[in-house]
Amino acid sequence: MSAPGHAHRSFHDFIARHHRFLLTTHINPDGDGLGSEVAVAHWLRGLGKEARVLNDSIVPAAFLFLGRSLALESWDAALAERRFADAEAVVVLDTSNQQRIGRLGAVLDRHPLPIAVVDHHASHAQGFGLVNVIEPEASSTGEIVYDLIREAGSPMTLEIAEALYVAVMTDTGSFRYSNTDSHAHRMAADLLAQGLDPERIHAQVHSHASAGRLRFFGEVLSALELLEDGRLVVLEAAPEQFQRHGLVGSDTEGLVDMPRTIAGVEVVALFSEVETGKVKVSLRSTGRVEVDEVCTRLGGGGHKHAAGVLMRGPRADAKARVLPELSRLITALEPAPARKA
Ligand code: 5GP
Ligand code: MN
Repeated sequence: MSAPGHAHRSFHDFIARHHRFLLTTHINPDGDGLGSEVAVAHWLRGLGKEARVLNDSIVPAAFLFLGRSLALESWDAALAERRFADAEAVVVLDTSNQQRIGRLGAVLDRHPLPIAVVDHHASHAQGFGLVNVIEPEASSTGEIVYDLIREAGSPMTLEIAEALYVAVMTDTGSFRYSNTDSHAHRMAADLLAQGLDPERIHAQVHSHASAGRLRFFGEVLSALELLEDGRLVVLEAAPEQFQRHGLVGSDTEGLVDMPRTIAGVEVVALFSEVETGKVKVSLRSTGRVEVDEVCTRLGGGGHKHAAGVLMRGPRADAKARVLPELSRLITALEPAPARKA
């Protein structure tokens, strides 16, 4: 990774050099990936350029509203060929790992287009682009996009502001997590000053659950296990539970964060077996344990305090691989500072 100033200049040059852009983000996109794409697309269009968005996965219901004024396309082999043939340059947002863009990765290998990566993940920090703007200290990819737009002196339209607000709001857990800092709040203040309605945006993102999803959360939470004297919380969900409640993998969004509220918890681990033999592991740290290394070693990744990996095989095997690693990290900690009464 080079100095941010240099990478930003290279990014602005990249934008200036090209006219027809294709934007993409990681599989199972979240508010940061989608919000960043939408913001960059509107920014580029405002500069008189062409910008299209194509992702491997479909847009979750929570973020469909971001696609109101812009098509957010998902994988179709013939469509992907057309979009790559029409594009001059690619911008990859919220991942610096080519494998994470799913089926678009192989198409990219066949179309030698110049790539710019904008991301805030520390794993794969070298990036796979010609230009790589990778800043692990940024709360969200949206925050980096915000800086780039402000540096360019481009107008911060309401559409761009809303998309960037979704990005920073979702990646910071509504300004709760350790990646929330003064820059994230200053950016949010500036976005609010453009006239967006935070209550409406929050409601749009957070009112898509089904009753079944809440019952599923209830079931999984009521079976939580406490290990390491309550410092490690383990949750698991079986394929049968997903089926019975009519849910898919992305419906676990937010579940792993809930046990963080238990006093004394250092790490929460969720093992969701969406289909038999496919186990999505999600890890969260409340601040002292770095959980990304465990996932990186198993082929996944993420941030110090929020990481994940997809594992093949029985759920019991995934637990047997991951839990001893977490126990080791937790037992190596200094005693927790005494809480003030
Ligand atoms: P979640 O547990 O919410 O799916 O993911 C938490 C964080 O870990 C996210 O920042 C996400 O980018 C990362 N992550 C989750 N699953 C994977 C994975 O399979 N591979 C990689 N490289 N990162 C992942
Ligand atoms: Mn992100």
